[in-house]
Amino acid sequence: MNAETNLDLLIHDSNLSAELINIAEKVRSNQRISFDEGVLLYEKAELGYLGVLANHIREKRHGDKTYFNRNFHIEPTNLCIYDCKFCSYSVLIKERSEGWEYTMAEMLDIVKKYDGQPVTEVHLVGGVLPQYDLKFYSELFTAIHKHRPELHVKALTPVEYHYIFKKAKIDYATGMKLMKEAGLDSIPGGGAEIFAPEIREIIAKDKCTGEQWLQIHEEWHKLGMRSNATMLYGHIEEFKHRVDHLEQLRALQDKTGGFQTFIPLKFRNQDNQMSHVPEVSVVEDLRNYAISRIYLDNFEHIKAYWAMISRSTAQLSLNFGVDDIDGTLDDTTKIYSMAGAEEQHPAMSTQELVELIKQIGRHPMERDTLYNVITDYNDFQFPVEEKPKYYQLPVIN
Ligand code: SF4
Repeated sequence: MNAETNLDLLIHDSNLSAELINIAEKVRSNQRISFDEGVLLYEKAELGYLGVLANHIREKRHGDKTYFNRNFHIEPTNLCIYDCKFCSYSVLIKERSEGWEYTMAEMLDIVKKYDGQPVTEVHLVGGVLPQYDLKFYSELFTAIHKHRPELHVKALTPVEYHYIFKKAKIDYATGMKLMKEAGLDSIPGGGAEIFAPEIREIIAKDKCTGEQWLQIHEEWHKLGMRSNATMLYGHIEEFKHRVDHLEQLRALQDKTGGFQTFIPLKFRNQDNQMSHVPEVSVVEDLRNYAISRIYLDNFEHIKAYWAMISRSTAQLSLNFGVDDIDGTLDDTTKIYSMAGAEEQHPAMSTQELVELIKQIGRHPMERDTLYNVITDYNDFQFPVEEKPKYYQLPVIN
């Protein structure tokens, strides 16, 4: 049964409340849902219902197409001047001996390790430290491009930008212009956490506010550049805070159109100051993907980080609004594993990613960071690997 038929059947389900039928009809006729309807979905809608709506939108936009890219991460440091309560990654400066701080040469060595390999993106993000300032990052971006001009530099979040621009005494507009000139290609979605000040104050005190996060993306978009957005969910926030977060992203996207992808990030409770807060279930993860897909009617893509939610949940998510499962990673990020993600050494070959997507009947597409298609893997045949030879064992009579 196709997504359209499923939605028709749902709309005629006599067991559904009038409010939920009304939302389903809005989705069918491409109408935007309201803040209150978003909260209602979180409070009342069952997983099956949300899956039908989200999959309808996903298939209307992308059919079975499912995107991934070939990328690697650089995490300059795990030391940080901030002390976010949910963070399992950072070490406060006073515990410096437990951390790492890469020099510019060390970071360039990581880039050079991929010479000759078909990666298209370096994703660069980590803790905030004074020595990683405007000059340092400008020189780093320029040096990466000098070494490998076609590599897309997706780097830093408004948390870092707010800090380094403030230190350099320049405003956001000037700062983002300088970053663009230095070679920054796009901004990843991190640092958004939850915009609501009453929650942000508890879990991510001192770093940039939600408003500042949005302002920095807006300045970047004004330069004609693209970025992503995230939301950290499943901790102490309420459903209304999640909808408020989605609402603010949707409003900025109406204004600029600069966001490409929304990535919900699940709160993990290993080794951080919020370890007493239980994690939400996989069902809640899927509900959250679906509601994000329904609410963000002006975002083209919804992404699930397979390294964070496990390979099987990433497969499931493809039926709940997700159309992108991120990249090959090559075990270059510690952000997810240190927070307790199932994948402790996240790396998948292109063939493994393609098979993961095909196993559930979707259509794998390798993309670059800006969603230009690099390879359509639907009918692609990987070379058959030679099987190990077996020796005949001697038969003892
Ligand atoms: S979440 Fe980011 S800003 Fe906050 S402590 Fe961790 S590394 Fe630092």
